[in-house]
Amino acid sequence: MSSVRVHLLGGLNEIGGNKFLVEDGDDRVLLDFGMSFGARKTYFDSYLQPRTTTILTDLIDLDLLPDVDGLYRQDLVDLAWEELDSEPPESAKAYEERTGEPFVHGALLTHAHLDHFGDMAFLDPDIPVHCTATTQRMLESIDHLGSGGIGEEIVEVRERSIEQLGSGAYFPGDDDVKTQRRERTIETCPVGTAFTIGPFDVTAVPVDHSVPGAVAFHVRTPSGADIFYTGDLRFHGRLTTRTQRLREYAEGLEPDLLLAEGTRITDAAAEDEAGVERDVAELLENCPGLGVVEFGWKDTTRFDTMQQVAAKTDRTLVVDPRLAYLLKQLDHRQDVPSRSPERYDHVEPYLLRRGTMRYNPSDYTRRKHEAGYKTKWDRDTIKPAWKANDQVTLRDPLAHLQGGVRATDIRENPQDYLLHLSYWSIQDLIDVDPPPGSRWIRCLTEPFNEEMALNIDRQRNWLDRFGLDHNLPETPGGPPGALTGLTHVSGHAAGPDLAEFYRSMAADRIVPIHTEKPRAFHDVQKDVVLFEGKGFAEAARGEAVVEV
Ligand SMILES: [Zn+2]
Repeated sequence: MSSVRVHLLGGLNEIGGNKFLVEDGDDRVLLDFGMSFGARKTYFDSYLQPRTTTILTDLIDLDLLPDVDGLYRQDLVDLAWEELDSEPPESAKAYEERTGEPFVHGALLTHAHLDHFGDMAFLDPDIPVHCTATTQRMLESIDHLGSGGIGEEIVEVRERSIEQLGSGAYFPGDDDVKTQRRERTIETCPVGTAFTIGPFDVTAVPVDHSVPGAVAFHVRTPSGADIFYTGDLRFHGRLTTRTQRLREYAEGLEPDLLLAEGTRITDAAAEDEAGVERDVAELLENCPGLGVVEFGWKDTTRFDTMQQVAAKTDRTLVVDPRLAYLLKQLDHRQDVPSRSPERYDHVEPYLLRRGTMRYNPSDYTRRKHEAGYKTKWDRDTIKPAWKANDQVTLRDPLAHLQGGVRATDIRENPQDYLLHLSYWSIQDLIDVDPPPGSRWIRCLTEPFNEEMALNIDRQRNWLDRFGLDHNLPETPGGPPGALTGLTHVSGHAAGPDLAEFYRSMAADRIVPIHTEKPRAFHDVQKDVVLFEGKGFAEAARGEAVVEV
């Protein structure tokens, strides 16, 4: 087994950016290929963004992507200009043509969070991505709702090439960047039973996390090395059956190497999601006005909590149209307890104002999911249906326009609603005009960087302006909100839960990943592999390797 290596290409001494390459001789498989928010923020922010055409070489230049041959898209490699751009790595295609074998047999994806899949946009679309059916649905929904930047090319890739402009251009025959769409190969993997990727035996083991469809991977390499990769997980969520099965699978597994997430390794035992339901319900029972909840639109567990709170407190939960779309896509999936909004009496989608700001159907042609349960409209179907007032055909595309809740509805009867609103839609408070005694309940993680702290300050200004009681965390900018209670639990397990779980596995060696506190793993077991003083740059340059 001496030829087995794990290259930590990201997720080293940082939270996020998980990218691991398992190598057994000439056979390789990737475990996640996520984006590192922390690393990106070193050089970029919301306004200073990477340049599109040279993004691959730019990110490699800055150590924000690993400099590895055999992984990347041919089109992005071809766009590098020899006079200025650094020498790109060999593309996946070129590697395979030269050696007769692909560099990797595939990429395993644990779950649909950007810090696990974000940099897959740069991988060759013929490298198969293996994930659960629910994760695939999540990726498709995220793709449909996204703004279409190059970093979002996970499901559909727009291959770029330099081509000559046509006769109608200002400079006919001159060079321009053209794009051509193609699908990425995504393969649904079974859950709980073994499957193969090339010569690797793999089992996807379901875990509970703050996004549906999450799994851990147990990989056996061709020469027999056993590697267990946790992805992200928790033990205090609502999916208790999954957690129990995971414990049973892992106990006494004795893998050669355990890649172990440690986001909250030094945190004390966590409260559970049921506590969030209890405390948010209590905050709303004493609320004479509008209730507003802020939580992530991909968190279907939190949605489930809030719909139960709404039922308990006799309110209608009005959800972000992105969440409504996602719930519809995930409807009837066995591993997702939530259902499509239409299946609840007390859940309705929110209709945002756009364009003319008067709720006309044409206001939504650029963001179709805000008008109903579609992200694409077929003009040849919609146009005649609109002319003929064919309500059956228009039902799904314009569902929110016809049945969704509008700011006017909420303004009339604020005490009847629990509105799911994000910071980025906070201007709707102007329309909703909440009465005195209304409450904004933030059900998100504490701000963990400067940009988030600044947003919190601005959000506080809005809430003060509209007289809402709130629970925003204290920041250097002002006093804490008036509301207290448990309003959020993490997607990640706390230290004691992790320690107990990892000890039960009895791994030969443990590699802390997705954590800023790797030394704390010494309390978990003796043989811990640490890369002290190394970060995203060393990882991207291939300086963090474990021999298995
Ligand atoms: Zn995650």
